[in-house]
Amino acid sequence: MKASFERTSWFPIMLRLEGARVLVAGGGNVAANKVQLLVPTGALVDILAPTLSPELERLVTDGKARAIREDASVKTLTSLLPGCRMVYLATSNRALNAELSALCQSMNIPVCAVDDPEVSSFITPAMSTRGAVQIAVSTGGAAPVLARRLRAKIEEIMPAGLHRLAAFMQHSRTALRTQVPDSALRRRIWEHFLDGTGGPLAMSGDTQAAQLELDRIVREDQRRTGEVWLVGAGPGDPDLLTLAALRLMQDADSVLYDNLVGPDILNFVRRDAERVFVGKQTNNHTLPQDGINAELIRRARDGERVLRLKGGDPFIFGRGGEEIEALVDAGIPFRIIPGISAANGCAAYAGIPLTHRDCAQACLFITGHARADGTLNLAWETIALRSQTIVIYMGLTLIHQLCARLVEHGLPADWPAAVVERGTLPQQRVFCGTLSTLPQQVADNKVSSPALVIVGEVVRHRVISSPL
Ligand code: SAH
Repeated sequence: MKASFERTSWFPIMLRLEGARVLVAGGGNVAANKVQLLVPTGALVDILAPTLSPELERLVTDGKARAIREDASVKTLTSLLPGCRMVYLATSNRALNAELSALCQSMNIPVCAVDDPEVSSFITPAMSTRGAVQIAVSTGGAAPVLARRLRAKIEEIMPAGLHRLAAFMQHSRTALRTQVPDSALRRRIWEHFLDGTGGPLAMSGDTQAAQLELDRIVREDQRRTGEVWLVGAGPGDPDLLTLAALRLMQDADSVLYDNLVGPDILNFVRRDAERVFVGKQTNNHTLPQDGINAELIRRARDGERVLRLKGGDPFIFGRGGEEIEALVDAGIPFRIIPGISAANGCAAYAGIPLTHRDCAQACLFITGHARADGTLNLAWETIALRSQTIVIYMGLTLIHQLCARLVEHGLPADWPAAVVERGTLPQQRVFCGTLSTLPQQVADNKVSSPALVIVGEVVRHRVISSPL
């Protein structure tokens, strides 16, 4: 989520020049180019040069600019600079341009010595204008040709009616601001307008239909309040998504997901939804849970329909409970959609039943995640029972300890145990052994997270199912 900052000395802004005095020193083609750029802004352009090119003469005759027919020098500039908004130096004398630039900068007046960014305090980007839409490309003066190339590429993909769309949006802006005072809601209304048929309608010039579409979106969006959907994405195979999950994935404005949610699942999320990765490896430090809660609340308050997508089931070792509590405290509406938990998914795809009439009358889900001091704090007496299946989430790191404790508390060393790595995914691997062999099998086969440990006689009942 963190933005990366590239160092650059140049800061792009759009400057209002209407009615502002701008001085252009120089009377040739280079100066004429700049004057041509300045005239449409409504700037009061003064051209300082003893003689002007025919093009500049025409602009002066047409009343678009004023001529000051004198040499550009420190003396003339000193008298002209007060009251200037900005200055272009386009004389053919580079040294003079540099000298005059220093003078402007000493008076804090933005100045561009054409083709000499080194001595300029601003530079002119490659520009493209479609009505109110303006695109400026800069390479910081390093490669103006490249900037122009890029601008041409951008122009190619700019739709023809863009100026009409911008004009429509500008026109409707004031009314919409009164109608919808909340700026976040207004932003979303415009996004929906542009996502739907509004953009093409306005670009084609059918402002009446565009306005009807905008009105419709305003009515619809104003009724809408933000909410959070806490959704289980299952253990990995997209086939295991619920229909409810799929529907909400298609409706969400944004999705916050963790590392257990893979790209195959994310593919089903609406293309325009904002994707925010908030997860970390479970064995790689704790989640910044407060930050996630705050982000969910902030987005819902902005009116977003936020999909909180979690691996497996959100209420099984997923901290879903904590997130919901935070939402309740903040008064945010929410929905909870269960998912197939890793235990169910891994067991089924590995062919290991979780209960069995003959040997496992219960099934226990436990966490093998260590506390901060590195120890496991579990009620071993109730866990190490022969009559139940023990499913251990996050048990890989402490697999040695886990197996040793189970034996210490009464299970036989040759008690069946299995590990399922990346269950339900194409890369799924299953290793079956016993409490005494499993840690070594994990090490030998370099089993990595996510992996689930299943302990109990059910492992002996494993069946290999045929692929779907
Ligand atoms: N809420 C999740 C569990 C989150 S805890 C659920 O209901 O499944 C993360 C642990 O789940 C992992 O360390 C691993 O033990 C287990 N897990 C999740 N997905 C898994 C998968 N595809 N294969 C094996 N284990 C998985």
